[in-house]
Amino acid sequence: MNTYTPPLRDMKFALFDVLQAERLYQRLGVEAAQRDVLDAVLEEAARFTAQVLAPLNAAGDEHGCGFDKSTGAVTSPPGFKEAYAQFVEGGWSGLTAPESMGGQGLPESVGGVLKEMIDAANLAWGNYPLLSHGATEALKQHGEDWQKDAFLKPIVEGRWTGTMCLTEPHCGSDLGLLKTRAEPSADGSFAISGTKIFITAGEHDFTDNIVHLVLARLPDAPAGTKGISLFIVPKMKVGKDGVMGGRNALACGSIEHKMGIHGSATCVMNFDGAQGWLIGQPNKGLNAMFTMMNSARLAVGIQGLGLIDRAYQNALRYARERLQMRALSGTKFPDKPADPIIVHPDVRRMLLTCKALGEGSRLLAYHAGTLLDMIEHSADAEERKAADELLGFLTPISKACLTEWAVECTYHALQVFGGHGYIREWGMEQLARDARITTIYEGTTGIQALDLLGRKILQLQGAGLRRFLGMIVDFCNAELKKEALSEFIAPLAQYTQDWQQLTLELGQKGAANPDEVGAAAYDYLFYSGYIALAYWWARAVATAEAGDHPAAFKAAKRETARFYFQRILPRIGTHAAAIRAGAGSLLGLAADDFDS
Ligand SMILES: Cc1cc2nc3c(=O)[nH]c(=O)nc-3n(C[C@H](O)[C@H](O)[C@H](O)COP(=O)(O)OP(=O)(O)OC[C@H]3O[C@@H](n4cnc5c(N)ncnc54)[C@H](O)[C@@H]3O)c2cc1C
Repeated sequence: MNTYTPPLRDMKFALFDVLQAERLYQRLGVEAAQRDVLDAVLEEAARFTAQVLAPLNAAGDEHGCGFDKSTGAVTSPPGFKEAYAQFVEGGWSGLTAPESMGGQGLPESVGGVLKEMIDAANLAWGNYPLLSHGATEALKQHGEDWQKDAFLKPIVEGRWTGTMCLTEPHCGSDLGLLKTRAEPSADGSFAISGTKIFITAGEHDFTDNIVHLVLARLPDAPAGTKGISLFIVPKMKVGKDGVMGGRNALACGSIEHKMGIHGSATCVMNFDGAQGWLIGQPNKGLNAMFTMMNSARLAVGIQGLGLIDRAYQNALRYARERLQMRALSGTKFPDKPADPIIVHPDVRRMLLTCKALGEGSRLLAYHAGTLLDMIEHSADAEERKAADELLGFLTPISKACLTEWAVECTYHALQVFGGHGYIREWGMEQLARDARITTIYEGTTGIQALDLLGRKILQLQGAGLRRFLGMIVDFCNAELKKEALSEFIAPLAQYTQDWQQLTLELGQKGAANPDEVGAAAYDYLFYSGYIALAYWWARAVATAEAGDHPAAFKAAKRETARFYFQRILPRIGTHAAAIRAGAGSLLGLAADDFDS
């Protein structure tokens, strides 16, 4: 059976030891975040996700969601609705929302740990609260007071959920093409008409109301992305007094049948003059939606992290139990008919790849969470600006790398099971299928790469990169004299210099020919992601060695870091070669000649 046990020790090591979050929360004055409270919250989150959500994962995949064509109603898989009721009762829906809005005011970085547990336990179920969190962020930052009272509080309390309605049949990555219309009404609201597709949690049976955040065009809007506005369009109408009225003119037209996350409803949503309310400024909807998308991008990165860990845990257990052949260097378990497959170097390669990418990704993702905390709570404008620039730079890396590594690692973990990984019984093929969507929704890997190189590096002149390089240089300088760390610090310092050089070269090439940016973006993103992970692995070893941890824990960190530096980090060489090869070999073949 495929099970999940939240890795609380490594989660706390990442958050409290490496990232020093307890000290950060005190400095930022987040009073609710006392260590004893946080420990209790994480223990309870571990219990809820392992005991309530994880056992529903396979059944959710098997049953999927139901759709009633005559009513447009969507039913979630068995147990999902009841688990959501427990989630709400436990106060989890408002964990990180401000107390003034009915939440518990805990840091976003703690919310990230909860999220990892939810996604590892049951990715499909986790999509319902994920979209609510994004809607909370958009309403919190851009909503008028009455909108916050009417819509935000019920979402924070978990009574309603949120969605994000961007995609239309003819536009996904290119939102400038969207056609959904918004006509002003006499009462100050707007009539929204159009069709949105692929809407996660667009319809379900968890709650009485669903708050759709919809991108649409006003009648006089300019073409392209400059003419998009954002609207709140509830399933059940809601007055300015917050009172819920009758059914709004919108409905789910169908649900998609898809490769994975069967328990997550993916809906076609038809809006037929539905009452909506403008949120933020007219024609500035994309800015407001970006608040939601950035939150969702980090959240999808964490989905990747959760999947890596679950896949790894199950593969590790299997590799210790499955007996096949003897170790090449001689029998290791003479009392058994064969050695467990964990003795074989190739099985270890797969397990260690999952462990190295998973534990490193945890630091990358939790670090992003602490940056969100600084942006939200710091009284120092310079600190907020620095955190914002750094987070802008790390968001596409976190989203794309963690999800692509999840695809890689769920395949490795499946392979550890051999044929038993390919059949359904062990749940490994579900993890591999579920992982696949994470590299697509919330902006494909290709779009994240363009965001990183085109926007965050070239357009914004690498402000976030400079801050990240500064962190690495400070760390290397501080640890330089520690002999025990030299195997990590020396290459890290060298790769950091190479990264700067490569970025400079690309800046020059990209200015002369924009196709060079598009041609290099994917490789540049992974080049950056692998160096970022090298930094976090070096810091993990330094922190483990300096702390009061069991010898086995310290040894595991060092050996895994060694594996990462020696066998994964060299991938950057291939990426650098591809970047330096330039656009020529990508663009030489005429579109008509691809099938010649
Ligand atoms: C299960 C599921 C759930 C979803 N949930 C939601 C949701 O809740 N709300 C919502 O609004 N949407 C949702 N989506 C839609 C999702 O965000 C889009 O599918 C995704 O953004 C890609 O858009 P597309 O499918 O139209 O692909 P396209 O935009 O057509 O892209 C096709 C390919 O071309 C590449 N490409 C496109 N433009 C460029 C470029 N300029 N440079 C380089 N490469 C490019 C892409 O990377 C991709 O590989 C969901 C989709 C799925 C499948």
